Amino acid sequence: MSNANTSQPVTVSIFGSTGSIGCQALEVVRTSNERLAVHALSVNSNLEALCEQIREFSPKVVVVRDLEMALAVIDRFPGVTVRVGSDGLYETAHEADVALNAVVGFAGLSVTLGAIDGGRRLALANKESLVAAGPIVKAALSRSGSEIVPVDSEHAALHQCMRSGNRNEVARVILTSSGGPFRTRDQASLSLVTKSDALQHPTWAMGPKITVDSSTLMNKALEIIEAVELFDLAPSEVEVVVHPESIVHSLVAFVDGSIMAQLSSPDMRLPIAYALWYPQRNGPEFGKMDFSRALSLNFEPPRRDVFKGIDFAYEALRLGSGAPAWLNAVNEVAVAHFLTEEIRWIDLYPVIEAAMEKFEPVSLVSAADVVELDQIARLRCLEVIEKHFAGIG
Ligand code: NDP
Ligand code: MG
Repeated sequence: MSNANTSQPVTVSIFGSTGSIGCQALEVVRTSNERLAVHALSVNSNLEALCEQIREFSPKVVVVRDLEMALAVIDRFPGVTVRVGSDGLYETAHEADVALNAVVGFAGLSVTLGAIDGGRRLALANKESLVAAGPIVKAALSRSGSEIVPVDSEHAALHQCMRSGNRNEVARVILTSSGGPFRTRDQASLSLVTKSDALQHPTWAMGPKITVDSSTLMNKALEIIEAVELFDLAPSEVEVVVHPESIVHSLVAFVDGSIMAQLSSPDMRLPIAYALWYPQRNGPEFGKMDFSRALSLNFEPPRRDVFKGIDFAYEALRLGSGAPAWLNAVNEVAVAHFLTEEIRWIDLYPVIEAAMEKFEPVSLVSAADVVELDQIARLRCLEVIEKHFAGIG
């Protein structure tokens, strides 16, 4: 980081600042003794929360969904530059030392590409952009020399563990999964799962989309693909283990059999701070462990026959040709329909499976190709839902 050794603060743009990760990132800024400064904030629709954040953090730039909201912000904060939509996200991601992408879903692609094309450090929480556009993101990275520091706790753990060896000494990585709220449920009781059941995560408080993804293990599916893309791994080099306590955030196994793990109490402020400060480390200590009390750590294999998300990931990686982007898109559509209670939890796997059967392979060369593929996949998934599932929620 260019100004890490000077008195200048590190400038940070927080995209998705009103969300779970965004708000925790602002807590990290609050605890930084003004060594982190907010350059920009972005939201989708939450005007009131944005206005409060502008008052507290005085960003130079904000990005909002549309012109109407932009005018409302300009009216209250005439000194702030206001930009709109995906072009606004892309342009703004070029500007600060670090762009934290905490937008949810495929909409985060503009931030990911904007930060990389602008040669900025990308602190990446938005896994969907990397899952969908892996080849495009990697080509952009090699053009610009920019770097991604993962915020997703598992990948932040892998990133840290990998610092203890050379890349060619890594044999495999092991992603931990809490197992979600239904880890021990039998198949029959899963048919009774409601929206509020699925929104109760046992160890993490997160936004609704990722919480539902955690209940199906689709979050782990996306994370398998995210790991492959981030660390240039073969799919066979990425394993998953269920670890209900969410203390070990992931592990790296080296060729000599040694395994490195990263531990903390579950607290997303730790991987957020890691990505914002990288390659330095700065306090305060987030997710501090208390070893004065007995602590048990448990590990078990995932029940892949019940929680099919993991198999979807390996199949999408096997298919290639845009299949991860297709999987991400159909999952987003399926989860959105579950959150509006148009389909049931038990319908999520059959919807995703049926929509994956409609996969249309393409060669992804540009961002426009990914956007087009994403839109087609969404349409196919809507067709699946309308034909087979609508009205039974
Ligand atoms: P939230 O739903 O809590 O927040 C999402 C944020 O993105 C909000 O600020 C929201 O604005 C904004 N947003 C929503 N839709 C759009 C859009 N179309 N265009 C621009 N901005 C949009 O999500 P989380 O914070 O839980 O997750 C964010 C990302 O981080 C996801 O990709 C998730 O997978 C990843 N992640 C999250 C973790 C967590 O602990 N929460 C852990 C690891 C990864 P508004 O408030 O106006 O709607
Ligand atoms: Mg994660």
